Amino acid sequence: MTNIYEELGIEPIINAVGPSTRLSGSIMRPEVAEAMRQASEACVDIAELQARAGEVIAELTGAEAGYVTSGAAAGLLLGTAACVTGLDPGKMNRLPDTTGMKNEVIMARSHRNFYDHAVRSVGIELVEVGIADRFSGAGVRDAEGWEIGAAITERTAAIVYVAYPHTQPSLASVVAAAHEKGVPVIVDAAGQVLPAENLRHFIAEGADLVAYSGGKTIGGPQSSGILCGRRDLIQAAALQHQDLDVMPELWDPPASLIDKSKLPGAPQHGIGRPCKVGKEEIAGLIKALRLFVAEDPEERRGRWLGLMQELLDACGTFQHAKIAFEVERKRAEVPSVRLVLDEDAAGLTALELVKALQEGRPRIAANPTYVHDGAVVFGPTCLRAGEPEQVAQRLNELLG
Ligand SMILES: *Cc1c(COP(=O)(O)O)cnc(C)c1O
Repeated sequence: MTNIYEELGIEPIINAVGPSTRLSGSIMRPEVAEAMRQASEACVDIAELQARAGEVIAELTGAEAGYVTSGAAAGLLLGTAACVTGLDPGKMNRLPDTTGMKNEVIMARSHRNFYDHAVRSVGIELVEVGIADRFSGAGVRDAEGWEIGAAITERTAAIVYVAYPHTQPSLASVVAAAHEKGVPVIVDAAGQVLPAENLRHFIAEGADLVAYSGGKTIGGPQSSGILCGRRDLIQAAALQHQDLDVMPELWDPPASLIDKSKLPGAPQHGIGRPCKVGKEEIAGLIKALRLFVAEDPEERRGRWLGLMQELLDACGTFQHAKIAFEVERKRAEVPSVRLVLDEDAAGLTALELVKALQEGRPRIAANPTYVHDGAVVFGPTCLRAGEPEQVAQRLNELLG
């Protein structure tokens, strides 16, 4: 039987970058694909399926409630909308017109990134706080918790916090400042699920909502994600995401997802409707999440370490380049390999090497983040058995 990519005339790529949307995400385990296939074989009540998935997410994250989104960015959109409208269906219907609503969202200036389009698309005004003085080397500080607290007004709907290991200020200080004034904190933790304890960490630190990608490290469907947190906010998010093209008399969502008794009536389709999630994504995400949580972290790391060691072994030594584990990442959760090129001697820049890998056969994607330092990085999370040797072979051809 012809493979679907052959049928379409599309040539697959060896992905030594990692789960990147541009490269179609990551590779799902067969069990996840099988869960999606099974889900595709029968129709269900989508609210019931979301409610059940939400219970599993709540259990695994320690949050009050959970929801499956079409990605972390969709989670930011739904979460922001929830903080703006609360459980008011009239406000939900009016978005993205936020006239008269709490319509400011605060972010530390150093957290700004283009995924916050999802936050802005709700119709809010983004209020930036603080200067990342440490960036210049002249200063040592970034925005601080008190500055975020000082920016809160009666119009503040939420604070958005982008979580990385190096993020400042600390989440704890932001949560303290926000909660003192009754403002919720939304954490963008898209790829931050390693260590796996991070699935509970941000909620435990007091975040009101946390958005994760399903298609990154969790290994779920590429267009899936998780939103977890306070039950009232998850309800408000669900109300603006669920299909509501239904007669009120026939609308009977599970109370754990949407408590009808708290509402004057049902909103119409909401601002989150374009981010819809299929039963296949919900089933696949939950399967992947359970497998991710169950996998022994040492085993996962060992698998990735093995792939990187295979790459190093197959490369041997190059005349004009050094290839080795990234020193600072050797003990990291995701071990990676860095090739540092002597660009003059090799007659090739690191950027040209990445381009040659991309354009050659087999097609190989390598991480270009550090090409301006003459370095190319290779990561293990989307590599399949046998692919490290193929990467090494191409490197030997290009640098030999
Ligand atoms: C990847 C990423 C997102 C978007 O995640 P999707 O699941 O692709 O929507 C949002 N924020 C950050 C910081 C990310 O790295």
